[in-house]
Amino acid sequence: MTRPNVIINAAMSADGKISSSQRQQIRISGREDRSRVDALRAESDAVMVGIGTILADDPGLRVKSPALRSERIKKGKPENPLRVVADSQARTPPQSRVLGEGCLLAVTRSAPPSRVAELEEQCQIAVCGESRVDLLQLMEILSEMGIERLMVEGGANLNWSLLQVGLVDELYTYIGGMLIGGEKAPSLVNGDGFSMDFPRLKLISLQPMDAGALLRWRILRGELRPEPCNEL
Ligand code: NAP
Repeated sequence: MTRPNVIINAAMSADGKISSSQRQQIRISGREDRSRVDALRAESDAVMVGIGTILADDPGLRVKSPALRSERIKKGKPENPLRVVADSQARTPPQSRVLGEGCLLAVTRSAPPSRVAELEEQCQIAVCGESRVDLLQLMEILSEMGIERLMVEGGANLNWSLLQVGLVDELYTYIGGMLIGGEKAPSLVNGDGFSMDFPRLKLISLQPMDAGALLRWRILRGELRPEPCNEL
């Protein structure tokens, strides 16, 4: 299967939360990290989020820096990377900032046709799977569109699904100097959680930044098996 190189980027609190129980958008990182994220966006061919993030935060997902946007244009690229939303039932509100030229909504065959038709006026639609976006199929579509580098900007459930099916190559976690807490607050990875074959990560770099640190991890693929745990 051909697929883009996939990087998950997220900012989390020191207790691993990416937002609060009320799903408020929280400033976890500072100015330096926000510029780094903008540069990572500018270096990517596409940026992807789940519908949960669209409904909670209404992100625009465009490159903020005019200089980075003009650099992209000089290189013959579109001003912004393709904005991709995993939205099985086409729930994206029509006034969402993510919509417009350069936006691709991945929906399923069970999405209400009237919702799909309404959204199709504002973005491209890719139908992937029956009831939940089939991420493998979506990756193939993105690859066919020439997407080589995909930056994933959350949230917790999309991160889980991508990791579960082994579609992630790198993970960048900014850890902010704050605590959020709350059983219901989204963590970096939610979903059912792994019960065996826990993905293993290799730390590539650790860099103090703002009031926290940026950790870059590479996902290991069978290179390092977990030690059997038989100590009691
Ligand atoms: P999410 O991961 O953004 O979106 C999850 C939704 O995506 C699912 O409920 C599902 O809804 C849809 N989806 C479609 N196909 C999927 C698939 N194959 N696997 C998983 N999901 C799929 O939402 P979330 O987990 O609720 O996280 C949102 C929270 O994360 C917000 O509070 C936001 O503020 C926070 N966030 C934080 C950061 C950070 O860096 N700090 C970044 C992003 C988001 P359908 O079934 O209806 O399609």
